[in-house]
Amino acid sequence: MIRAGMLKLGAGILGELLAADPGFRGTRLDCGNGHQAEFVSYRDKTFDTVLGPVTLRRAWYHCAACGHGLAPRDAELGVAGVSLSPGLTAMNDKAAAAGPFAGAAAMLQDLAGVHLSVKRVERAAEASGAAHAAQVRERAALVAGRKLVPLPPSPLPDMLYMLTDGTGVPMTARETAGRDGKGEDGRARTREVKLAVFFTQDELDDDGCPARDRASSTCIASFETASVFADLIKAEGIRRGADHVRQLTFIGDGAAWIWNLAAATFPEATQIVDLYHAREHLHSLARSLEFMLGDRYQEWLAARAEDLDYGDIDGIEAAVREFPLEGLKKEETGRELGYFLNNAPRMRYRWFRSRGLFVGSGVVEAGCKTIVGQRLKQAGMHWTTSGADSIIALRCREASATWEAICNTPRTQTRTA
Ligand SMILES: [Zn+2]
Repeated sequence: MIRAGMLKLGAGILGELLAADPGFRGTRLDCGNGHQAEFVSYRDKTFDTVLGPVTLRRAWYHCAACGHGLAPRDAELGVAGVSLSPGLTAMNDKAAAAGPFAGAAAMLQDLAGVHLSVKRVERAAEASGAAHAAQVRERAALVAGRKLVPLPPSPLPDMLYMLTDGTGVPMTARETAGRDGKGEDGRARTREVKLAVFFTQDELDDDGCPARDRASSTCIASFETASVFADLIKAEGIRRGADHVRQLTFIGDGAAWIWNLAAATFPEATQIVDLYHAREHLHSLARSLEFMLGDRYQEWLAARAEDLDYGDIDGIEAAVREFPLEGLKKEETGRELGYFLNNAPRMRYRWFRSRGLFVGSGVVEAGCKTIVGQRLKQAGMHWTTSGADSIIALRCREASATWEAICNTPRTQTRTA
């Protein structure tokens, strides 16, 4: 009761404060499209705030040329065209990014005493996410075009990692219409979102293993093609100091698009195939030879795993070539072996480890699970691309928030002359 009373009191105070400026900015003002809009009257606008609904009486102008009205006071307060205050929008973003929209509405009601319908929670969160995604793309275009030049991170980290992976998001039937997929009827049920995680590393832990710098991760995601995604990666890499660090490393699961992306964005980066994916492929390779190996299967696999740990792909190849294979088996084994031959320079694990480098992409796989899976792949969920893109953008922003808070202050960026 006391809290409800305090909120009501707060909303009253806020209303009084807002009323102090009725928003009159002269009888005429620029409409935003180069015309003069004329003052018409004072009109009420009600919007929701963290203290509850507040009604604002402010000057309202009309542009005859455009045929639309505007209130300069709304723009100043950040409520032009929307019905949630910036404070409540931030609160709603957090709740809707964390869980399903209905749960977010209930949480706002229970924890903050703010009542919003489920539909409003969804609309507001998607609008915020879309705005954030657009802002990231705009910044990426400026950075990639060298029109916005981020200063080097300070202190400068020693190594920067870029990890990329893709994961499917369940889509509504309309979104996937006409796309081929893995479903039983051949129809796609998901669309792939590409995710990249950036983090830095300065030292090894007490056991001599690479240790990720605390609060150094930032994430970007996109449903767009690999070439559009490449521009985002390029910009984020530059922003994270790729031009300045001593060691730049790109880790992926071995998919061809990832290496094309790496070559197109940062050809100077060291490329590493995630060791755990390589081990899975080693199991497939061994299975394709199981009929020849018989009782020696486990022993053979263990020896090849050791070869792999050393980065001795020649050793793996020689061990496979000992078997005279023909026909389908030859093809199958050749395909499995090809994964290793094509990626051999990216599998020099012993060397990479001796340089203190990470050799696993666990961070980005965890990112796919936490940023995408836990929010977007719950039972019964089906998304539109724009809805999923917006919510993923909000979750990427949350995941990057600590680094952004430290580094993305105005003084760390400068515009070129
Ligand atoms: Zn106008």
